[in-house]
Amino acid sequence: AALARRVDALMRTVPDFPEPGIQFRDIMPLLADADAFAAVVDAFAAAVPEPVDLVAGMEARGFLLAAPVATALGAGVVPVRKAGKLPGPVASQSYALEYGTAAVEVQPFTIPDGARVLVIDDVLATGGTAAATVRLLEECGADVVGLSFLVELEALAGRAQLEGHRVDALLAL
Ligand code: 5GP
Repeated sequence: AALARRVDALMRTVPDFPEPGIQFRDIMPLLADADAFAAVVDAFAAAVPEPVDLVAGMEARGFLLAAPVATALGAGVVPVRKAGKLPGPVASQSYALEYGTAAVEVQPFTIPDGARVLVIDDVLATGGTAAATVRLLEECGADVVGLSFLVELEALAGRAQLEGHRVDALLAL
């Protein structure tokens, strides 16, 4: 709870970014605070109840959290990228946005069959990105052992899209 308060105090809320009507939670001041960042990485690593082979970070802020958590856990990193960023072969999973669709991609040859994968991102909002990431990793033969977020925006009910998986958030707003 002390860490949650610290995370809360270090985040900014930016109105109308990146679009009118969106209240954007900006985690950059937290990443810039050496002690708080280290405490967050420790907390992510400690929250995982089982061994992990790979940590999947969602583009782009998820990368910044996934890499240090992976080294803390003795695991490798898998970047989950937006469509068209990774050299192939890639596996792809598309998901619905408010307007149109988007897709997430990984390189399946970096994920051994049955690999235990922890998924990390900064913010769980509607859960669309995270749910697509779970489908993508499972299609690649991974065992998704849980998803960890810095912040969960509870009003958007993202957790409902991740049923059957362990979902952790350091701070619920
Ligand atoms: P979702 O698919 O759950 O609606 O959106 C989650 C994705 O959008 C995540 O990759 C997350 O980084 C980003 N996102 C959505 N809202 C916010 C926000 O308020 N702050 C930050 N930092 N990222 C957000």
